[in-house]
Amino acid sequence: MAHNESRNVREAIKSQPLRGQRALVLGVANDQSIAYGCARIFRLLGADIALTYLNEKARPHVEPLARELGASILAPCDVAKNGELEAVFAQIKDRWGGLDIALHSIAFAPKDDLQGRLVDSSSEGFKVAMDISCHSFIRMARLAEPLMANGGTLLAMSYQGANKVVPNYNLMGPVKAALESAMRYLAYELGEKHIRVHAVSPGPLKTRAASGIKEFDVLLSQALQRAPIGELVDIDDVGLTTAYLTTPFARRLTGTVTYVDGGLSIMG
Ligand code: NAD
Repeated sequence: MAHNESRNVREAIKSQPLRGQRALVLGVANDQSIAYGCARIFRLLGADIALTYLNEKARPHVEPLARELGASILAPCDVAKNGELEAVFAQIKDRWGGLDIALHSIAFAPKDDLQGRLVDSSSEGFKVAMDISCHSFIRMARLAEPLMANGGTLLAMSYQGANKVVPNYNLMGPVKAALESAMRYLAYELGEKHIRVHAVSPGPLKTRAASGIKEFDVLLSQALQRAPIGELVDIDDVGLTTAYLTTPFARRLTGTVTYVDGGLSIMG
């Protein structure tokens, strides 16, 4: 970030536009996770944070980050396990009584299906990818709705492979397309309750999920060469834009897909 840009960001952070907001962040695996970048910025902007971890194996990686963020809630959540997402929301209701922001930064596809051609994908693999990466966002919205009596913001992480063919993104392309479409229908259905719903679509970032995509390094180097801004995005960049969507500055926006990719997606 250029010097002036960094100073402007620091000034904006000081104004703490999310003070008093309660934010649930699903999808922190480690300090490279996009979800962690978002939670960190939400916190810097004044929000209270609830974090989840996938399972006991993931817990030691997430617990120190929860501590660093002063998270009020830290709970296990595998969205594929019956009742775990519901238990997170029950805890939020008990502890906070309501919720303002819920971020879904979760994706999964079985390795063989992810790394093979879409045309060869298994019905089971497609179903699992769709359930964890898309339908769990819908379930999250359903559970958040009664806790967002004064409105709120629901957010999901998408990728350009939803709309354009990105070699090696394979079955995640149609899954992210479904996620973006679901986001628009949720925005329509929940708009009258002032619950705004958005997708954020980052350019490629080196994370654990990304390491499952074949030749991911090629995507990174192409992004670097082709993005008009000429730099890769980092998780703080994604966090800042995601946070903006939750602020009153974006109060009349809903149903959008916002690219945080240095302009990569405008290139032919
Ligand atoms: P990451 O590996 O840090 O995060 C993925 C998260 O999904 C992990 O925390 C993992 O525990 C969680 N997850 C997987 N299965 C789950 C389940 N059953 N229940 C609950 N959680 C589960 O990687 P990331 O890149 O930060 O991914 C976050 C989101 O960003 C994903 O939706 C991904 O598709 C999207 N995204 C990533 C990139 C990129 O280049 N890294 C680009 C665009 C969009």
